[in-house]
Amino acid sequence: MGFAETCRALTGWRRAEGTSWLMEVSSTVLQQPLRHLQAAFQGFFRGTSKYPRRKKKGRARDSAMYARTGFSWREDAEQPGTGAVKLALQSEPLDVRWSRPLPSGVLPTRLTVERDRAGRFFVAFLVEEVIEPLPAVFLTGSREPRAVGIDLGLASLVTLDDGTKTDHPRLLRRYAARLKSLQRELHRKERGSRNREKVRQKIARLYALIGDVRRDMLDQLTTRLVRENQVLVVEDLSIVTLTAAAKGKGRRRKARLNESITDASWGELLRQLRYKCEWYGRTLVVVDRFFPSTRRCSDCHTKGPKLDVAVRAWVCTECGAVHDRDANAAVNLRDEGMRLYWLVASALPPERAIPSVIKASELSDVVVAAA
Ligand SMILES: [Zn+2]
Repeated sequence: MGFAETCRALTGWRRAEGTSWLMEVSSTVLQQPLRHLQAAFQGFFRGTSKYPRRKKKGRARDSAMYARTGFSWREDAEQPGTGAVKLALQSEPLDVRWSRPLPSGVLPTRLTVERDRAGRFFVAFLVEEVIEPLPAVFLTGSREPRAVGIDLGLASLVTLDDGTKTDHPRLLRRYAARLKSLQRELHRKERGSRNREKVRQKIARLYALIGDVRRDMLDQLTTRLVRENQVLVVEDLSIVTLTAAAKGKGRRRKARLNESITDASWGELLRQLRYKCEWYGRTLVVVDRFFPSTRRCSDCHTKGPKLDVAVRAWVCTECGAVHDRDANAAVNLRDEGMRLYWLVASALPPERAIPSVIKASELSDVVVAAA
């Protein structure tokens, strides 16, 4: 059974007495999940994805997608990029508080209304926009692209190769007491009761707040990094997660909570770096997980012994250099990243642009493809 058949069934249900409430919703909105369903089953029968799972209202993000014909858009002449949005079957435009204006003069091609677990509503517009790449940045007085090594860690969220550190947003510590008391309250409430649902929403709202602050902080950080550098070097995330697991001993629940927050920060940071590098004509180099970024002395390249996670600084036995653990790793990452960058750059024909992502683990493919 494909999209056409389910669509026909839907028309039947909209007319049938027991399911006539389906008439309250625009048909374009109801057809969208049927498209998703077809795509999900196609993936399943091709063997590329698992059997589709049912979604339950209120458990994840609830969303309704409106195609071009499902909404109307009138741009405000006074405040370009904002305007009146009216959904199909609604008489009044939505009361939107704009997080940022749309690019002025474009027609949104798709619109999604979402409700997150904290009960907040969002409208997302799909628009087509041309993003101008930023001018390339070079080291002063040379044609050497400016590069930065970025070490992700537990002690500091990021350490750059010049030793600059950015801390993890200390959000949990700030909200920990409140979270704890809410969680205790939740367990006292009867399962399935209204009051329990209320407390659950409060917890969800607190987590939503933490997520917002984190995203905003990471957004500023990644924008700055991408503006100031031409090549950005990070290590493969899988190795970072390994170090995190080693530290999660002791008070397990708190550790797990902290871990999930740092994990989310690293993932989000890499996601933002990835798309911003692509947008602005930068290159993100992902160094292989087997590269000994922490153990190698960045001055003489001697590989030292394995360092315990608690060791924050060390002295190279070969050349006597004193290293901050994370800054040394960041310098090593930058050097290794630039080596890979030039490897790819020299293999490409001169008119070809350097790709926005270079992954060490897939490097042979890139170089072969270029040759
Ligand atoms: Zn050394």
